[in-house]
Amino acid sequence: MDKVYNFSAGPGMLPDEVKKDAQRDFLSYNNTGMSVMEMSHRSKPYEEIHFEVISLFRYLMNIGDEYHVLLIQGGATQQFDAVPLNLFVKGKADYIVTGNFASKAAKEALKYGDVKIVASSKDKNFTYIPDVDKIEFSKDADYTHITTNNTIFGVRFRKLPSPPSPLVADVSSNILGEVMDINKFGLIYAGAQKNIGPSGLTVVIVRKDLINNPMSICPTMLKYSEASEADSLHNTPSTYSIYMAMLTLRWLKKLGGVAEMQKFNDYKAGLLYDFIDNSSFYKNPVEVPYRSIMNVPFVSPNAELDALFCKEATASGLISLKGHRLVGGMRASIYNAMPLEGVKKLIEFMKKFESENK
Ligand SMILES: *Cc1c(COP(=O)(O)O)cnc(C)c1O
Repeated sequence: MDKVYNFSAGPGMLPDEVKKDAQRDFLSYNNTGMSVMEMSHRSKPYEEIHFEVISLFRYLMNIGDEYHVLLIQGGATQQFDAVPLNLFVKGKADYIVTGNFASKAAKEALKYGDVKIVASSKDKNFTYIPDVDKIEFSKDADYTHITTNNTIFGVRFRKLPSPPSPLVADVSSNILGEVMDINKFGLIYAGAQKNIGPSGLTVVIVRKDLINNPMSICPTMLKYSEASEADSLHNTPSTYSIYMAMLTLRWLKKLGGVAEMQKFNDYKAGLLYDFIDNSSFYKNPVEVPYRSIMNVPFVSPNAELDALFCKEATASGLISLKGHRLVGGMRASIYNAMPLEGVKKLIEFMKKFESENK
């Protein structure tokens, strides 16, 4: 079968170059005579991979010594619990709810303490970001939680809030896709399967002073202090995903890093939004300033045409364009590894579909 362009919201595409490197190393990594999958996580060749990934994150995101970079498992979803379990001291947090994942995160935190929804965009079906300068934050919260890029609705923060408590962010779908100033955050976390590598790895970047008072009920496996003391080797990490992340981060570094990648992503997303905005057939419901450059939802004139669009797109090698069940329509996720060619092919297909179904 010919190569397809995969517009899935996650797991997303991986760069060809990364997959070729993995293929080269598959049977024998670096003359070890074995695959990374078979290596002890205490062995020297694995430890080199592990620490290279941590230092590549530090390099690419400009992360200072005041932060830990933790490589853990359980997905971003597990962090919905880990965050309150580790950061609740007074047991109070502010949450800004700008989508489905943000809402789930707030719901989990509610199990462990007081959660105040200080702003929400639910009134307009999550098609905008509330004005961060008008939010009244709690003075005594342990942290304020946001989701920087709303993967399902295709909406992102353009300006970060500056609450009095440490800012915690789920950055799963835009980490490494746009420049982030880590110093504005107390903690960020991300599942790997969008911009970092395959699933199985979760990255938590946390300010060192925030992790010393986990709740007494916090499971050992979820304690950031436990992970940091053992350099994320307190138990067997997801070694192969970490190795794949190393290849992806090396690829990103070679391309010029996150700022270069953001230019490329702005360009890709711009092509798609311009095409949609100039069409009377397709629509994107998101308020322009808050449009995501990673996830682009759009609809055709009706649900039958949406279904036909997805079917015919799949037959043309443009796969996983079906929108999330909460939104319907289509969604093109165009993460770092989506080549320009993929976006151009999608636009050509959209033109053709429009002319045949107008
Ligand atoms: C994909 C995603 C998640 C879920 O990640 P898992 O690793 O599957 O738990 C959570 N938050 C955001 C913003 C996401 O994009």
